This record gives sequence, structure tokens and C-alpha cells, in this order.
Amino acid sequence: MLNSSYQVRAYNIKHNCDVKGFLEAYKLILQRAIDEIWGRIRWVEKYEKGRKRLIPIIPKENRFKHHYLRNLLMEDWGYSRHYIDSAIKQAYSILHSWRRNYIRGERTREKPIVKRKFVRIKETLYSFRDGKIRVSVKPYEEYLTFDISIAWFLNRTRGKMGELILNEKYLTVTFRFREKWMKPNGKIAWDSNEKSLDGFSPKIGWVRADLRELFHIHRVYELKRRRLQTLASKKHKIREILRKYSRREGNRAKDFCHKLTSHLAKTLHMYIHGFELLEKRRMMNNSKKHNRSIAKSDWRTIYTYMSYKAKVIILNPRNSTKGCSRCGMINAPKGALYECSGCGLRIDRQLNAAINLYLQMEGLTPSPKLFEGLMRAWGGFTLTGEEAGEGSDEPVRSPRLMNPQSYVCLSKTT
Ligand SMILES: [Zn+2]
Repeated sequence: MLNSSYQVRAYNIKHNCDVKGFLEAYKLILQRAIDEIWGRIRWVEKYEKGRKRLIPIIPKENRFKHHYLRNLLMEDWGYSRHYIDSAIKQAYSILHSWRRNYIRGERTREKPIVKRKFVRIKETLYSFRDGKIRVSVKPYEEYLTFDISIAWFLNRTRGKMGELILNEKYLTVTFRFREKWMKPNGKIAWDSNEKSLDGFSPKIGWVRADLRELFHIHRVYELKRRRLQTLASKKHKIREILRKYSRREGNRAKDFCHKLTSHLAKTLHMYIHGFELLEKRRMMNNSKKHNRSIAKSDWRTIYTYMSYKAKVIILNPRNSTKGCSRCGMINAPKGALYECSGCGLRIDRQLNAAINLYLQMEGLTPSPKLFEGLMRAWGGFTLTGEEAGEGSDEPVRSPRLMNPQSYVCLSKTT
């Protein structure tokens, strides 16, 4: 949820309870539920791009789900009944995600097999009193008690204790809370580009987060993939390697986005961040569809992660690139420099867009007076950077570089 400020924190506690038998039984019953549903899947023939495909229809009638299946699983179940309901729910969610992936061509027609042993315990199925969590395993006879009264996180967390996840070694305790927002320290609007994220806030000016590393990650894997695809592409093994590549690529990109957003949230403490709405964004002169979709998905990842760590609001990208941030006139910028044919402003194109987005965040429309005010507050006068060097009187002000790897700290320079 982008605008909601619900947060979830999870903590692991090592436990010494003997839960082996219980977890094993749960794993079997979960697999049994999957088997039963699997056996009732209807396969419907469908033609797709001239190819015949079998599409699975998962049974979800109440009579089957809540009566037949539930009673069947209950037959030789010695533990509390609510675990059966959890198992049915989990079995359905496993099969639905298998189906989604199967339709996308990422999974085969093979029944999912449960491998890991763990049980999710909803908040209504345990009690928490005097620092002790009590989970019912068998009604009226067997309980698991976890004493967490000395756990370090108890006096650090806020909010309600949520779902528990139990495995052989650990109990994971989650907390859900609503983040309360104090008065923000400032606002910053971000213009996104393939190789950088350009932010503007009158307090600190122009901030640039370097995305070249992210771009590089995708480039490396794209080349790797291309090299493989020239070989016989239908071979099973190659498809497997390709899958592995895209998993790694995704993980590395996500890791980068996590580091970047953590850094931004930390250095711009208690700031409200404005991001453009994804769908309407124009992607800059990028001819390749593939690259475009990757840049889009990174953008989505960045603002999703940012919304976990700071307050995020969504902005309308309309005219943020074309409009002049000083007089509001619409121009068609070419290249890295924005030139206004109305008021003569010459400014870095990305900075111009970021200022426009910032004005939108504050509900303001551009005007020369406002523009001067924003620049004055920032402390330096800026226009273009490289242009200013060539005999111009304007002092040069380059964007502050921020890179999740070099960790150039904003606070040092302000
Ligand atoms: Zn202008």
C-alpha cells in the first residue's frame, strides 16, 4: 500500500520446544490438501497463438472446500482443528500461485510439493499474557509456551502482535503498527530517469541519486541472456539457466533499491517524498521495449520500498518535463538542457522536472517570483552546471552525488 503507513516488523526467537512431530504432521496434512485439490483440477483446452494449451481450473465450490475437504482432512487429525483451516487456506494459496506461474509459462504441469516445515499461526489462535505466548496444539492437553518476556524487541516495538510463524528452530513474531507522522522536516520531489533519480527540495537543493549501477546490473544480464539465446533456445537446460539469471538479476536489482531507499530515508529523515505515478510516466527516448519495462519495474520497486521507510505521495507526471519551472510555459526540451522560449530560463532538464514536481507537491503554480524564492532559499544560484562554466556569470552548482555505495552524506554539506 503506497499511501497507507502500516508497517510490519518481524523478529526471530530461537526456541527449544520439540515441535518436530507437529510440524511433520502439518506438512503431511498440507500436502494431502494439495493432493486432493490437485486431483479435482479440470484441464481446459485453449488455443493460444496457434498452440494448444491446457489451462487448469481449480475447484473452489464451498461444498468441496469447506465440507468435503475439511471433513476428509479432519478424519485422522489429532491436533487442534484450526490448523486444518490454515492448511486448506495455505494449500489454495500455493496452488493459485502455481497456476499464475504456470500460465506465464514459468512452471510445468507438475504438482507442487511442500518441502519446508513451518506453520503460520493467526493472531486469533494464540494468547499473549505476561510476556508469554501460548499456542494451542491439541485442545485441552497440549500447549506450546514461549517466554518472550526478556526478548530485546519487546520494549522497542509498537503496535499489535500479529501472525506467528513456527519452524523447528525459530518462532517468528510479527508486529503490525500504524506509523504516526510527526511534522515533516521537509518535502522532496523525485524525477526518475534511467540513470539517475533527481530530487528537488528548496532546503537542500538538487539531489541526485546515481542509478548507473542498477542500469549496469540489467545490462550485464541482458548480454548474458543474449549470448545464451543464440544457442538452441528451446533446450530445457538453457531455459533453466535463463531462469537462474533472471532470478539473480532481480535479486541484485532489489538489493540495490533497498540500499538506495534506506539511504534516502536516513539522510532525508522525516521528509515526505513525492514520486510520479508510474503508469503515466513517459520513458525517455528509449527505443527498446525491454529496457523500458525494466526501468519501469525498478521505479515501482523504488517507490514501494520507499513507502516502507518514509512517507510517500504520488504525483501526476503531466508536463513535469515539458513545463518551464519558472514561467510555466510548455516547451519541447531536447537533450540534457531545458531552454524556455518564454522567459529564457536555461536549466538542467531533470532539475527542471524535479522543481515542477515539487511545486505540484506544494500545490503551487510556477511563477518567476516563486522560482527566485526557491533558489534563494537553497542558498546558491543555479542554472545549468556545464553551461554555466562557459563564460557565464552564473555560479556553477552541480547536483550532489548520492550513490548507495559511496554513501556521500547529505548532512555534511548542508
Ligand atoms: Zn519559462
